[in-house]
Amino acid sequence: MTNTSPAAPVAERPLIEVEDLRKYFPIKKGVFSRHVGDVKALDGVSFTIQPNETLSLVGESGCGKTTCGRTLLRLIEPTGGRARYNPSGNESIDLGALDRGDMRRVRRDLQIIFQDPYSSLNPRMTVGNIVGEALRVHGVCAKSEVDDRVADLLERVGVLPEGRNRFPHEFSGGQRQRIGIARALALSPRFIVCDEAVSALDVSIQAQVINLLKDLQREYRLSYLFIAHDLSVVRYLSDRIAVMYLGRIVEIGRTREIFEHPAHPYTQALLSAVPHADPDRKKQRVLLTGDVPSPVNPPKGCHFAPRCPVAEKRCFESYPQHTTMSDTHTAACHLLQ
Ligand code: SF4
Repeated sequence: MTNTSPAAPVAERPLIEVEDLRKYFPIKKGVFSRHVGDVKALDGVSFTIQPNETLSLVGESGCGKTTCGRTLLRLIEPTGGRARYNPSGNESIDLGALDRGDMRRVRRDLQIIFQDPYSSLNPRMTVGNIVGEALRVHGVCAKSEVDDRVADLLERVGVLPEGRNRFPHEFSGGQRQRIGIARALALSPRFIVCDEAVSALDVSIQAQVINLLKDLQREYRLSYLFIAHDLSVVRYLSDRIAVMYLGRIVEIGRTREIFEHPAHPYTQALLSAVPHADPDRKKQRVLLTGDVPSPVNPPKGCHFAPRCPVAEKRCFESYPQHTTMSDTHTAACHLLQ
């Protein structure tokens, strides 16, 4: 086993390449707004996503998952690092280097579905206008065709086309999320950040929306960055899983590797909380004590050390490098070295 950066499967050129992405939110104090520190929401995250692949990003609330998705899409400007979009084998776009106009054009390919279907849809707009807005703004089709395109998109995500004359509050939570998906699909994207896209939904509705996302992925060859705090939700959907803790990826691997051979104590703790269908299967729950430490002043050494049940002295002294477990699986823990 060797030290290296988070692993990625070797295949065709990644559609998305994220390298050492960082987002620090400055803390300012006093009348002169003196810079007194930073909230390190995202602290050097690297991964790739292949065409037609789903990478899930999991971890507790406040670990930086949402900041990661939004910084990647430049909905939030990064503090450092790089995100590249490679639409073809010979075209690679550094998203951070684009001006507003170019970023707007590229954003047609890079979409986001938000967590809260209640607040992410404008309550004053009809569903037809919400889904058709991007088509009109980007001039994707003739004005006379927008209505038909909207009806097709709604039908594809399981909303009756007649619903386009109604307002978001007239739909259930699951239907509203389907409308959010139709809006994201309107510009025929290649990549979608699903930011806790099913977290606010009932379990049965979650399954329906996840099935819909899987069907759409097959149909349109989409790639997803699927952000969730619940490991059981991502199992069915993910090709690979990255586990985040306090702004950094602590383990990344194929879904089977993460579920069957979790290497990092934090991943093991998260997995021990996932309910299992087999009641005879004995499982020891790893209870984590305390909260995620503040990203303003992260602990020296391994950030997980204050809560880790197997921490040693060296864990409090230096941050561990990623250790390679397989071609596609790495984890950052001193005990693996
Ligand atoms: Fe736990 Fe130490 Fe590994 Fe961090 S490096 S996860 S504290 S054993």
